[in-house]
Amino acid sequence: MQQQVIQLIQGDITKVETDAIVNAANSSLLGGGGVDGAIHRAGGRQILEECMQIRARQGGCATGEAVITTAGKLPARFVIHTVGPVWQGGNRNEPQLLANAYRNSLQLALENDCRTIAFPNISTGIYGYPKELAADVAIATVNQYLKDHPGSFDTILFVCFDDENFTIYQKAITG
Ligand code: ADP
Repeated sequence: MQQQVIQLIQGDITKVETDAIVNAANSSLLGGGGVDGAIHRAGGRQILEECMQIRARQGGCATGEAVITTAGKLPARFVIHTVGPVWQGGNRNEPQLLANAYRNSLQLALENDCRTIAFPNISTGIYGYPKELAADVAIATVNQYLKDHPGSFDTILFVCFDDENFTIYQKAITG
C-alpha cells in the first residue's frame, strides 16, 4: 500500500501538478540556483513576494524547517520551501536535519489539506549531500511518516532531475 503512495519520475518539478511541490530553498528564502531558481523563474514574482513577507515576519527559514507560499503561475497549489543541510562530512547532524526537512514539509502539506506532494532530491545539488545517503534518508523518512499518519497522502512523488538520482531511487523504490 505504501509503495503505491510513493511514486517516482524523472523530470522538472516546476511542471508537476501535485497539490504542493517542495523547494530546496536556502535559509534566506530569497531564491538561489538549482531547483530554487527554476521554481522562482517559472512561478513568477508572487512566490518571492510571499517569501519576503515570511522573511520580514520570522527572519527566513532555519535548516530542517519549512514554510509555505502560493505556487504563483505553477500548476501546483502551493510551494513548500524547506532548507536541507549543507553536507559537511556527515558528523554535523546532516541526516537528522535532512529528515527534518522532509518531515516538516509533509506536516505543512497535511496542515494545508494537500493530498499530493512532490519532492526534489533535497541537498544533493549545490549543498553536496552524497546522493545515495540522501535517498536513504528521504525514502526512510517518508515511509515512517506514512506509518505514523496512515492515509495522510494519496501520492508522494519523488522528482529526480539528474540521471544519477533517478537510478538510485529506481533501485531503492522499485527494487
Ligand atoms: P540544494 O542546495 O538543496 O543542494 P539544488 O537545487 O542545488 O539544492 O539541488 C537539489 C536537487 O534538485 C539536485 O538533485 C538537482 O539535480 C535537482 N534539480 C535542479 N533543478 C530541478 C528541477 N527543475 N526540478 C527538479 N529537480 C531539480
